[in-house]
Amino acid sequence: MAGEPQADCLFCKIAAGDVPATIVRETDTTVAFRDINPQAPTHVLVIPRAHYADAASLAAAAPELAADVLREAGQVAEDEKAEAGYRIVFNTGSGAGQTVFHAHAHVLGGRGLQWPPG
Ligand code: IMP
Repeated sequence: MAGEPQADCLFCKIAAGDVPATIVRETDTTVAFRDINPQAPTHVLVIPRAHYADAASLAAAAPELAADVLREAGQVAEDEKAEAGYRIVFNTGSGAGQTVFHAHAHVLGGRGLQWPPG
């Protein structure tokens, strides 16, 4: 069921503390942790604790929780002092590079970022 923990989901396990991660921020509804394979000096993932497969299904089912994720993404960027600019990315679907099907915002910063992205 939407929002319920999934036994086979890596990010549900991180949210539950069952898989270790380098956590940088936590709230009642979200967890932010460093990406294990960083693509920029700042590369933090912000997830809702509740399980939704991607950003669109999160926003449709739980818009306040989606707002929590975005607010925390902005707070991560502020904490990381990404003053020059940063990017919030939600890869959605395998064709766009999504590999973990628990909604997550990538917060990327600390270097120049090209546009269009690859
Ligand atoms: P996606 O490709 O947009 O789904 O992003 C998934 C991200 O999760 C990738 O950037 C991975 O490097 C990252 N990742 C996978 N496993 C872990 C982990 O155990 N801890 C932290 N990040 C992870």
